Amino acid sequence: MSYFTQLLEGGYEAVHLLSDSKSGLRAIVGMHNTRLGPGLGGTRALSTYASEEEAVADALRLARGMTYKAALAGVPHGGGKAVIMLPRGSFDREKIFESFGRAVESLGGRYITTEDSGTSPDDMEHVRRHTKYVVGLKERSGDPSPVTAYGVARAMEATAKHVFGSPDLKGLRVTVLGVGHVGMYLVKELHQRGAKVWVSDINPASVQHAVTQYGVTAVDADALHRMEADIYAPCALGGAINDTTLSLLNVKAVCGAANNQLLTSRHGEQLARRGILYVPDYAANAGGLINVAQEWAGYDRDKAYARASLIFDTIDTVLTRAKESGLRPEQVADRMVEERLAG
Ligand code: NAD
Repeated sequence: MSYFTQLLEGGYEAVHLLSDSKSGLRAIVGMHNTRLGPGLGGTRALSTYASEEEAVADALRLARGMTYKAALAGVPHGGGKAVIMLPRGSFDREKIFESFGRAVESLGGRYITTEDSGTSPDDMEHVRRHTKYVVGLKERSGDPSPVTAYGVARAMEATAKHVFGSPDLKGLRVTVLGVGHVGMYLVKELHQRGAKVWVSDINPASVQHAVTQYGVTAVDADALHRMEADIYAPCALGGAINDTTLSLLNVKAVCGAANNQLLTSRHGEQLARRGILYVPDYAANAGGLINVAQEWAGYDRDKAYARASLIFDTIDTVLTRAKESGLRPEQVADRMVEERLAG
């Protein structure tokens, strides 16, 4: 499909191709919809893109996701996302990120960047030497994971209100797949709320930490998926709800931190048919975006947490409208965004 067809069909505003012959920078910034504010989204840096077309498609898909996440969270930003195609051989990482900083500056604030898969806080330090349009800096809002986890816990409370009649998570059985940055903080939030937690992770050290620190029970992934529980929280990779896991799940609701939990929209339909309530991932995991958006506005940790707490209200509205309309929660969330963008 031609680039213009992709942009027009997807409602995109622009795709910027940014390069620098001295450092070898090859970066793509996808801009989806900036009606509600400047694009804000992370920079993904990978050496594994098979083609430029694949990298552009990734930047565009991710930028669209940011439009939806920001609009639903009520954050005054639009959808932007950057992808850096890292060289395959040896290269000077500092120079690449410095030239990326200059490229971001050249966009004049239409796009504000931050860390994402494949980039680190140190990379962002190189970026910031040449642009003011960068957030998620070490000494400012720092690691977004605790706020993301707090937001997911608030989303679970709203879920519990709808499914079990009370937002209290005490005594509820929650299974968590992936106890990395967000998953571990989520386990902490659940522990503080008195939930009973089971975890699984391919990293034994993380599992051990969750067991000793928060008294959770460790199980393998297959057992975790088969367990009778109240809420399943995917906190590892995307596609957690797929043909294999769908047939195993024995829970009342799915609410977690991972992006793109439904492998396809069909898996959302199947979850609903099985009577399992799905909480749209981008609604539940917006805490990290709220945190960096707060940094852009002037960082105040209390304000960031207060905004993330409102994820409860967002999920409450989504689930109420889903019940009233007969639509699935992910369809309602998308409609709410489209109304906000049109309004
Ligand atoms: P992370 O890499 O720190 O943690 C992921 C964890 O999942 C790791 O412990 C890893 O060992 C584990 N894992 C990977 N594959 C697994 C498998 N097959 N089975 C079991 N465990 C597996 O990442 P993170 O920052 O905690 O993010 C987790 C998810 O949440 C990602 O999908 C991310 O996109 C999303 N997310 C993160 C944030 C944030 O603030 N970090 C914000 C929004 C969304």
